[in-house]
Amino acid sequence: MLIVDNELCVGCGVCEDNCAFAAIEVKDGLAVVGDACTLCGSCVDVCEVEALTLEGVEKSVQVDLESWSGVWVYCEFRAGSLAPVSLELLGVGRKLADARGVDLSAVLIGADTGETAAQLIGHGADTVYRVDNPSLQYFTDEAYGAVLTDLITKHKPEIVLAGATAIGRSFIPGVANSLGAGLTADCTELAIREDDGALLQTRPAFGGNIMATIVCPSSRPQMSTVRPKVMKPLEFDASRNGVVEDIAVTAEQLQTKVRVLESVISEQDNVNIQESDILIGGGRGLDSEKGFKLIRELAESMDAAVSASRAVVDAGWIGYPHQVGQTGKTVAPKLYIACGISGAIQHVAGMQSSETIVAINRDKDAPIFDVADFGLVGDLFEIIPILINKIEGNRGS
Ligand SMILES: Cc1cc2nc3c(=O)[nH]c(=O)nc-3n(C[C@H](O)[C@H](O)[C@H](O)COP(=O)(O)OP(=O)(O)OC[C@H]3O[C@@H](n4cnc5c(N)ncnc54)[C@H](O)[C@@H]3O)c2cc1C
Repeated sequence: MLIVDNELCVGCGVCEDNCAFAAIEVKDGLAVVGDACTLCGSCVDVCEVEALTLEGVEKSVQVDLESWSGVWVYCEFRAGSLAPVSLELLGVGRKLADARGVDLSAVLIGADTGETAAQLIGHGADTVYRVDNPSLQYFTDEAYGAVLTDLITKHKPEIVLAGATAIGRSFIPGVANSLGAGLTADCTELAIREDDGALLQTRPAFGGNIMATIVCPSSRPQMSTVRPKVMKPLEFDASRNGVVEDIAVTAEQLQTKVRVLESVISEQDNVNIQESDILIGGGRGLDSEKGFKLIRELAESMDAAVSASRAVVDAGWIGYPHQVGQTGKTVAPKLYIACGISGAIQHVAGMQSSETIVAINRDKDAPIFDVADFGLVGDLFEIIPILINKIEGNRGS
């Protein structure tokens, strides 16, 4: 419970300004706490006259923060290959480790991982903890979670990063929970605070309307997930040296209630808009499912893939694997052509890192033009056929 000491409160309003939930208000010169209070404690921290206290809420404080050291990246390996986000995380992990003056380690869990450990070293890792065992061929939350939790408990890294992929989202929260650590999901920026070496974890909050920077001051490890294509991998450097430490699994770690009967690579998994250099994005301006025929033609003429806004995915015009944005995928192609997409903040959050953005929209004030490098104002059903003719004409000549 949040208690206001009316004797101490001076009604300055600092608590009101700092409450992200609009749960505290100054009335008649005194702070009054409303039902929206989540007991987050941010008002307590900013109250200079110490008029606010949290009762019955214990903050778990680890006293030995200094004993945690090193940056770790969980490198996802599935169906015989490494998830590209692993290399992207090693890129940002290298920067964080250098800023802290510590080692960067990769954790590789799976079966038949072959030369992957060497690949991880070439992309920035100093050490690879390789847990390669036939029993780990198929991912299960329990086994992978137990292996990673035990490794973290033993080696005590200060930072642990993982991809916000289906697998990362599935088991990393459980690992954080077992360790009593916090977890910041879907970070778009990671940096080290100079004063105290804390990890600054930035991510969109409140429907993407603000960017929030989250710090875990009193617990370790500091854990974050990052979506694919947000960070950049380092170039492979064959001359880099590193250590590969093979870790044995225990029968206890392999205990799981899940039995994998079969693993199938679905059609949907084959649609990887994050791997394409050119994306043609379709939105509600396409009018109907049939409108996608036109942008598919444009995509074919340019050797591109087709992506979409959430509006058209929700309408069932195209499948979810094509969705770009806050609740879809983050993409960073060389060229993104947005056709009939308004440019809502949640869509832009997923494509603004594209190298060149072209927007086709009949509304000259559409927000997509704010992020576009080139804008074509007009009817997409007139413009796109002209583009296709031009491209095919150029190919023929
Ligand atoms: C929590 C949350 C998460 C969300 N996550 C996502 C997400 O991940 N991805 C996402 O995309 N959205 C997301 N949204 C939805 C987002 O807010 C928008 O509603 C959505 O992006 C709009 O899609 P749209 O641009 O296709 O449609 P609209 O906003 O309806 O825009 C259609 C555009 O087409 C133009 N147009 C119409 N006809 C033509 C024509 N003939 N020629 C040229 N232009 C034409 C119009 O001028 C208009 O600008 C989310 C929303 C919320 C609340």
